[in-house]
Amino acid sequence: MNLLEVRQLSKHFGGNAAVDQVSFVLNPGELLALIGPNGAGKSTTFNMVGGQLPASGGSVLLDGEELRGLSSRSIAHKGVGRTFQIAATFASLTVIENVQMALLSHHRRVFSFWRPAAGLYRDEAMQLLDLVSMQDQADRPCSELAYGDVKRVELAMSLAGKPRVLLMDEPTAGMAPAERRALVGLVKQLVMQHRLAVLFTEHSMDVVFSYADRVIVLARGKLIAEGSVEQIRQHPKVQEVYFGT
Ligand code: ADP
Ligand code: MG
Repeated sequence: MNLLEVRQLSKHFGGNAAVDQVSFVLNPGELLALIGPNGAGKSTTFNMVGGQLPASGGSVLLDGEELRGLSSRSIAHKGVGRTFQIAATFASLTVIENVQMALLSHHRRVFSFWRPAAGLYRDEAMQLLDLVSMQDQADRPCSELAYGDVKRVELAMSLAGKPRVLLMDEPTAGMAPAERRALVGLVKQLVMQHRLAVLFTEHSMDVVFSYADRVIVLARGKLIAEGSVEQIRQHPKVQEVYFGT
């Protein structure tokens, strides 16, 4: 059985099929890239898998269990995490406090005052920062960090829920090429070391072809190609969509 299986997933907005009967699988230790031009349906697919958007049809199975229809919070608790979007970090809190917040949220702890609870989950937070090589900056306010480092903190925060599947919709948006490589390279390392399963989108084909284990291609809501980096690089339909040849 596959860890995550998406079957014939569809989303209609009015008469328009933003995602049209898309099927794919994702397994532990796999970094799967979802690529396609703007408007192809990538974010809509992420939102249906993560439960932020109800699907019009199809299924999303985790270990064979249906996720479609569950709340995004339940889906996260079952082990499908999402990277936090921009501004998910609290700029006035330190790096480690942000990760502690994510851990508190995962453990559903209720707290009325943040500072008195500051010792909670500190060791666990430090371990997560270690994974993203941010332990040296644990006590700096997030407001002082470089953009690429904020993204690392967000990655540590999304790992706080111990996801088995991590959904990353354009994790490197707004980053310079070298930072993109560094972040996706780090994700690849986590995938290999912890047998994490990651679905991500990335605009730079260079980065996709360097790190992805497998690639799926969407165009106008349809899955038009699927395969290894080598297969996708040479795929005539992909050439057509990307290069108009
Ligand atoms: P991508 O992430 O690949 O750029 P999206 O999933 O954001 O593409 O969008 C796919 C298509 O669905 C686009 O044509 C977009 O305009 C449309 N769409 C996305 N969200 C909505 C919405 N909430 N209402 C209507 N149309 C939408
Ligand atoms: Mg998108």
